[in-house]
Order: sequence, then structure tokens, then C-alpha cells
Amino acid sequence: MAWTRFGKKKDMPGGLWIKCESCGAMLFRKDFEQKNRVCGSCGYHFTLPARERIAITVDPGSFDELWQDLRAQDLLGFNDRVPYAEKLVQTKQKTGESDAMVCGTAKVKGVACAVGVMNFQFLGGSMGMVVGEKIALLCEHALKTRLPVVLFACSGGARMHEGAVSLMQMAKTCGALQRLNAAGVPTISVMTHPTTGGVTASFASVCDLLIAEPGALIGFAGPRVIATTIKKELPKGFQRSEFLLEKGQIDRIVPRAQLRDELGRMLAYATGADPVAAYKPQAVPATGESETPPAPEDDNPKKKPKAKKA
Ligand SMILES: [Zn+2]
Repeated sequence: MAWTRFGKKKDMPGGLWIKCESCGAMLFRKDFEQKNRVCGSCGYHFTLPARERIAITVDPGSFDELWQDLRAQDLLGFNDRVPYAEKLVQTKQKTGESDAMVCGTAKVKGVACAVGVMNFQFLGGSMGMVVGEKIALLCEHALKTRLPVVLFACSGGARMHEGAVSLMQMAKTCGALQRLNAAGVPTISVMTHPTTGGVTASFASVCDLLIAEPGALIGFAGPRVIATTIKKELPKGFQRSEFLLEKGQIDRIVPRAQLRDELGRMLAYATGADPVAAYKPQAVPATGESETPPAPEDDNPKKKPKAKKA
């Protein structure tokens, strides 16, 4: 459903105005894009394409993409209106992306990390063999390098075109993250609108720190399916970030405009990097009666959390 809306939007390029999905306000496209696709009227956070997400999150020029050559295979010969193999080719032509996940290494506010961003434009950000494999590879890379991992989820769920192979990615990504957990390598999940189905039920929910953007729909089955099944009216704000924060399913909600700063700060804390340096690249030196002595060689802050975490 959400991706049908997205499809419609994609089909009317060049429009100067965009209607807010939440409050209905007409938004001037240029202004809307400058606000990184957040409604200036009600603060609704629209789905952000993966490349834009990377651009507003990591330090300029620091992103080094990995495994961009991975391609999905049509193992089942799946055919709905368009054969899956053909759909993959068409979607690649339309989006310029080879699948629904972009992974690499980068720096956020000076802190090195491994980053994976889902791309909703590619078949509704569905998780299939490529998405799962990229996350697993990213985790293995992080395990070797001890880089903290940040995963941005944005997905309609598992990719049904791949059948059981897509479902298997849930266990695979959780297994990969568990190895990082055992090794004390920090992981952060950022759930964005929408994070649903097998993605919510796997890697997006099992990281050390669970962050969500405001108003994001986060759940397994959609609210309409649940309401029809249990034949009850759902509480207000059901499955939205604010509701989930109240119920303790996520740790915090961070608006898009503050996300980069917050991530930088959290990564700094998690890795033992200087949070002040990460927060403000040019920290003002402390003034006082005595000069602060330089840290001794063996007091490397980077080594501390490893011991603490394990
Ligand atoms: Zn709005």
C-alpha cells in the first residue's frame, strides 16, 4: 500500500508542489527537498531514498560503497504480472540501484562506522537474498574491523518473489548481528517510515540501540490486517514510533534534522571516541588554573569500551 503511493509519486516527476501525505498541506518541492523531505507544516517525515539518506548522514566524501555488484537471482522462476527476473531489470533501470540495500564504510561526525541503508524505491525496500547477504557481509566486515554498525531500515518486509530464500534472510541477519553482539561490537538500528514485516521481525529490532524517526510506521503485520483479524478498533497511534517508545519497544525517537548529530554522539560513546570531538569537531579547550595533562599512551579511549562491552 505504501509503495503504491510511492509509485504514484514517482510517476509525476517535475511537479513544483507535493501534497503532504499526513496533513494535506501543499509543499513547494524545492523547499521540501531542502528540508530533507520533512513536511514544513506538520513535521511528517517522508521516506528518503538511500543515497539521500547517506548524503545527509555521513561526513562528506567519507562513504566507501561495498558489494555493489551483488545481484538477485530468480531461483523460483517467479511470475506475477511481470516475471521477477524482468522486474529486477526494470527496477534497476528505473532507480539506478541494483537492489534494496546500499552498504559501505563511512564516518559520522568523524567516527568511523559500517553503514547499511535500505532503499524503499527498489521493490518497496523488500528484503531478499541481496539485502540479507549485504547485511551479513557488513556485519562480518565490522567483526573483523571492529567498526560499529548503523543500519537504516525502510521496508515493506520480505521479498515474496524469492519465497523461502527471502525468509531465510531474517535468521541470517540476526545470526550475523548476534556474532557482533558476542564480540562486543556496537550496533544501531534506525527505523524509518515504513519499517514492516520481516525486516521489523529481524535485524531492525535486534541491534543494541533502536532509534526511530518521528511518526514512522513500525510493525510486523499492517494495522489494517490486525484490525480485521482481531475485529477491534486499534488504539490511536498504533504502530507509530511514539506509541512504540511509550511501550518500550524502541529506545528513542530522533527527528531527521538531528539524526546525524545524535548518531555521531552515540557512535562516539559506543566506541570510546571523544564525544565532544564527535559532536563539535572543533572543541574549545578547557580553561582552568592548571593545564590538563595529555593522556598517557596506554590510556587510549578506543580500547576501553571493548573491554567494558565484552
Ligand atoms: Zn504535513
